[in-house]
Amino acid sequence: MGTTGTLRVDGADGLVGSEVPYLELGSAELGPTVSLMAGVHGCEYTSMLGLRRFLQGLDESKLQGRLLVIPIANLAAFHGRTPFVVPHDQLNLNRCFPGDANGSFTERLAHVLFDSVIRNADFHIDLHAGDMVEALEPFTIYDASEVQEQSRALSHAYGLGYSIRSERSASPIAGTSSAAAAEAGIPSITAEAGGCGLVDERSVELHLSGIRRVLASLGVLPASFDPPQSPVELNRWVWLRSAIGGWWSPAVAAGDRVPGGSIVGTVSSLTTDEIEEIRAPEDGFPLFVTTSPAVGVDGLLMGLASGAQPV
Ligand SMILES: [Zn+2]
Repeated sequence: MGTTGTLRVDGADGLVGSEVPYLELGSAELGPTVSLMAGVHGCEYTSMLGLRRFLQGLDESKLQGRLLVIPIANLAAFHGRTPFVVPHDQLNLNRCFPGDANGSFTERLAHVLFDSVIRNADFHIDLHAGDMVEALEPFTIYDASEVQEQSRALSHAYGLGYSIRSERSASPIAGTSSAAAAEAGIPSITAEAGGCGLVDERSVELHLSGIRRVLASLGVLPASFDPPQSPVELNRWVWLRSAIGGWWSPAVAAGDRVPGGSIVGTVSSLTTDEIEEIRAPEDGFPLFVTTSPAVGVDGLLMGLASGAQPV
């Protein structure tokens, strides 16, 4: 099917994950080019499987455009079953885009992914899930940018329950592939469904239908389904962290609605009777929640999406 190739991380010959397979399908002469990337985090299996299943079911002759596909971007973490980071240098690949050709392994990997694939696309979709220790309510996120209306349309087309617009100045993170793409003028989303290292069928299907809906919305594939319902639109993204290390006990689940000021969990010290109450700073929805009780000082506990609908 299509053309297969290998991206190579410079100066990393022999290291696991230094060669990244990719696929090119269809033709740019027929329509827009869309990059589809999964496996930026190595244990987010539902997103990888949604993309695999899409490719297995694809009739390439129906493509009215071109797909640039990276089935698993972070093979070192995949083979090592390593959550969040690339094992070679302990960096989070989704904080390193657009990358650095002269940086460490992960920064060079981000560079080759961005420069060889994402930059050549008209639209970019990065597929994720909660990682090995994260429960998650499905959502898409896009960045405030000059192409934000097109990104928002992608977010709605993907069809998940929540759509978050992220302002760079207020974002808890930087260097995501979708933020770097939007900065380069390429409409882009990060799509999240699934979590906890599980391969649950519902989340795989959400990604599969999301990919198909986005491509249909761009005219790259024929539409053969009802349009999705409009998502809940939010524009703030607050990550809650622990002040102390210890045992994390969440009091809410991913997808709950929590009022500002309410206790969303506690962290209790392993060595003293100190208990830290974690409170929601404002009304919102915990869209991912750390499920592992083990947290360190400044450990990530949950992501709370909030805010009024963007204009
Ligand atoms: Zn991820």
